[in-house]
Amino acid sequence: MSAAAPAEPLLVATGVHKSFGPTPALRGASLAVDAGEVVAVMGPSGSGKSTLLHCVAGVIRPDDGVVGYRGRDLVLMSDRERSALRRGEFGFVFQFGQLVPELTCLENVALPLRLNGMRWAEAGRRAADWLARLEVADVAGQRPGEVSGGQGQRVAVARALVTEPRVLFADEPTGALDSLNGERVMRLLIGMARDRGVAVVLVTHEPRVAAYADREVVVRDGRTRDLAVAA
Ligand code: ADP
Repeated sequence: MSAAAPAEPLLVATGVHKSFGPTPALRGASLAVDAGEVVAVMGPSGSGKSTLLHCVAGVIRPDDGVVGYRGRDLVLMSDRERSALRRGEFGFVFQFGQLVPELTCLENVALPLRLNGMRWAEAGRRAADWLARLEVADVAGQRPGEVSGGQGQRVAVARALVTEPRVLFADEPTGALDSLNGERVMRLLIGMARDRGVAVVLVTHEPRVAAYADREVVVRDGRTRDLAVAA
């Protein structure tokens, strides 16, 4: 192998196409993210941002294109292989937390570990540890409906991080928060990239949020364009 060959990004999608019935949502979109890097995916509503995130995260299968993760093509994997990969290596944060309302905050954070087969005692211990790290240990025994939006979103971030993912996908993670809590959540996500080398793919339409990223990718009409972020 040539020593000059650039290292392959951790996650790289090229020429991704996806239609829902007759509606093309993606028409040749590309995205690459390295370990420790934060990439913001920007663009107007309906431009294809969420669809791109779902394709690169292996949630939906593109009609065409390549989604490479550590040398494997997600598009060619079976549904079972893709969900195993998602559970093991990826973390997800959404706009409205999407915690399970019947479970306590602690049980919500422990859930991904339980789904991966970890025993309750260990899963509960790790979940409590993450709640403490995100400064929401005090809501451990409460249900999501009983906590504030900012607390709920930090619990959701804890749930995304408890499996120690290599890639974190965040779809408008601060969209339902006031600016103080939004800033807090963003600092957490950036910290994960800086301190632990997590690759962060952040979908947002807010320039204030995108300003935290190392790079911006703009989606318009299902196509992507790379923008350098001014230093
Ligand atoms: P954004 O995240 O930028 O708002 P989306 O990726 O959600 O954009 O949507 C892109 C286009 O695909 C839109 O026209 C949207 O209506 C359509 N779309 C997205 N998901 C679905 C779906 N599950 N079924 C039908 N159409 C969809």
